[in-house]
Formats: sequence, C-alpha cells, structure tokens
Amino acid sequence: MLEPSGLAGLVSVDREKLTATARAGTPLKVLNEALAAQGLSLHNMGDIAEQTIAGATSTGTRGVVASLSAQIAGLELVTGTGQVLRADAETNPDVFAVARLGLGALGILTEITFAVEPVFTLEAHEFPMLWDEAMERFDAMARENHHAEMYWFPHTDRILAKENNRVLEDPEPLGRFRHWLDDEFLSNTMFGVVNRIGNARPSLIPKISNLSGQMLSERTYSDVPHKVFTSSRSVVFREMEYAVPREVGLEALAEVRRWIDSSGIMISFPVEVRTTPADDIALSTSSGRESMYLAFHMNAQTDHTAYFKGVEDILRGYDGRPHWGKLNTRTAADLAPAYPRWDEFQAVRDRLDPDRVFSNTYLRRVLGD
Ligand SMILES: Cc1cc2nc3c(=O)[nH]c(=O)nc-3n(C[C@H](O)[C@H](O)[C@H](O)COP(=O)(O)OP(=O)(O)OC[C@H]3O[C@@H](n4cnc5c(N)ncnc54)[C@H](O)[C@@H]3O)c2cc1C
Repeated sequence: MLEPSGLAGLVSVDREKLTATARAGTPLKVLNEALAAQGLSLHNMGDIAEQTIAGATSTGTRGVVASLSAQIAGLELVTGTGQVLRADAETNPDVFAVARLGLGALGILTEITFAVEPVFTLEAHEFPMLWDEAMERFDAMARENHHAEMYWFPHTDRILAKENNRVLEDPEPLGRFRHWLDDEFLSNTMFGVVNRIGNARPSLIPKISNLSGQMLSERTYSDVPHKVFTSSRSVVFREMEYAVPREVGLEALAEVRRWIDSSGIMISFPVEVRTTPADDIALSTSSGRESMYLAFHMNAQTDHTAYFKGVEDILRGYDGRPHWGKLNTRTAADLAPAYPRWDEFQAVRDRLDPDRVFSNTYLRRVLGD
C-alpha cells in the first residue's frame, strides 16, 4: 500500500494550452481550490472531492459529461520495471490510451496534467418529479441541459431531478441557512436519522421515503463549478454503480424497479441516474459507447448483498460495466467480453508490469493474473 499524501500540490499551469499539472496524491478538493485561485476550473467531476486525483482517475470517477480520466491531457508513471514514463497523445500514445484509467495495474502515477478552462458559473436547478413524467422527459432533459441527473426513491414514484447549466452571470450561492438546512441537516443529519429508523424497522422505509420525497422542494442557485458538483456525505454507505448503453438505460432502470418491488428488499437510499458521452480510454466504463450510469446504495449497517446481486444480474444482461472503484462481483473472464479493447490494456500491462509488482487480490479477480 502507498500513502501518497506527501506527493501533493499543483506543479504548473500552462495558460496557453489551458492545462494544469498536479502531483498524483493531490486531493481533488485541494486541486479545485488551487485552480480557482488562478481563475481556472476542471470541466466537471463526481459528487465528492475527497479522493486523490490518482485514485479518482484510476477508478474512472465521473459525474455527468466526461469522466476525470477523459480530462487528462498527460501523465507521469513509474512502471513495474522502475522506468519513469511520460505519456500524452504524442509521447507514448499507446500508454496514454490505457493509463488514464489504469486501476493501479500499470505503475505508480506521480503527476497528472488535466485540461482546464477559465472558471465559470454553474447554475443548478433541482425539482421534484414523478416516475412517469421523469421516464418521458429524461432524454429531453439530458439533451437540453449541460448536465441532467435524477434520483429515484425506491418503493415510491418520487424523483428528484437536477439540471446544471453554465451561465454568464456572477454566482448566486444559497444563503448560509438554506445551505445548512438542505445540504447538511436534511441530506446528512436527518438522512442519518431516517436510515437508523429504517434499520430498526425496515417495513417503515416506503413510508419514510415517500415522506422524504414529498419534503424535497424546488431550488435554484449558482456557484463556481466545484461547489455545485460536490457535496459533503456523512452517512456511511456501500455502493455499486453500473454503466449500460445509453439507449437501454431507462429500460434497465424500469426492470430494476420491477425487481425491487417483487423482491421484498427495503432500500432507504435513492438510486442515482446519470449519463456520459463515449470516450476513447480502453477500460473506461464509457469506452466507445454513450452510457447511462445507475448507482445503487445501501447504508453500511444493512446487508447489501441480496440487493446488489439482484441488480447486478439484471444489468449484466444489459451489457453493463461496473464502476471499478465501487462494489461488484465480476471477474476477468466475464469482464473481457464487455470491453472490446481489453487486449490492448493487457498488452501494455504485460510490458509495463511483467512481474505483476502492482497486482493484488482485487486486480487478480478483475484483470486476471
Ligand atoms: C461518498 C462517495 C461519493 C462518490 N461519488 C462518486 C461519483 O460521483 N462518481 C464516481 O464516479 N465515483 C464516485 N465515488 C467513487 C470514488 O470516486 C472512487 O472511485 C473510489 O472511492 C476509490 O477511490 P479512493 O479515493 O478510495 O482512492 P484510492 O483507494 O486511493 O485509489 C483507488 C485505486 O486507484 C489506484 N491508485 C491510487 N493512487 C494511485 C497512484 N498514485 N498511481 C496508480 N494508481 C493509483 C489504486 O489501484 C487504488 O486502489 C464516490 C465515493 C464515495 C466514497
């Protein structure tokens, strides 16, 4: 195991090329602040910023629109044979094609260069919807907004939809009280209490979820991108997330809903629905195909295995690819057919780490020996 916290900080910014290089152990939140201080920003990100940039990119972390890996313009890697390699679209392009999402199997990332842009204002519009309307409108929402996502509350028809758009105006963040009420008290403190009640009396979960769904109100605010994209999360949960081809995403979600309703399993966490375009990284969950991401959560005190297994069985049938940094039970033998460029990754792995210096139990399961 490596403890990378000493390998942190912004190294350089190239204003002409609009790139920023940081050491690989830099937490995303530190990079975000350092870029903002220079009037710059990443294009987008997932919904927390605690991870190091190497951990986030190596597992394919993303929000809506391009993954963090797809925003990498160059990287530096120490390989299994001790060689220091730089890779970008021109230098070692074969390594660049796979190492932007390397699962730690190719070497130790020491620096990552991201494409950045002048900081912009992102406006968030959040509003409740009902299932039928959401199924009908989601494709248009995804087309018409820069970012669209939704959270469905299992056992109910309730959905919270989110549309984020770039605007030209200055930021108008939520007032401090509303921010505390919505993002700290309701999303964390109250949600923690609700989960404890649900743990003690699972049969109450549908009623509680219906009530929580009813309490969601419409709101609009704007801020610098990382403050809109990321939030704090204090209720500890387990998660599995799958990418399925974009065109079958809603059909897969509806099948999951039918299975949840018939399974008798009580789920207190919403299911998150996001989309991303195709990218050109060999083992990216969006490699070569536009994707819809369906994320399933269970609080850490409840056994998640039956829920995740039931959903995983369904999504496997939709040619689903699991998020590499979240729970899944897949093996190299059944993941290889899901990735047309699997052999390309393995060829680079054989060259950069022939003795499997970087292998571990997880990598042996998902990538093979
Ligand atoms: C609350 C929460 C919210 C999340 N939200 C999202 C989201 O919105 N979208 C999303 O896609 N994901 C999300 N995730 C998943 C998250 O982004 C990571 O994929 C996951 O947590 C693993 O990253 P880590 O910080 O634990 O990294 P680590 O455990 O530090 O790293 C993960 C792996 O990356 C590799 N690695 C780390 N450092 C290096 C290095 N220097 N060189 C080479 N390889 C390296 C190793 O293989 C390591 O096992 C979320 C996770 C949590 C806990």
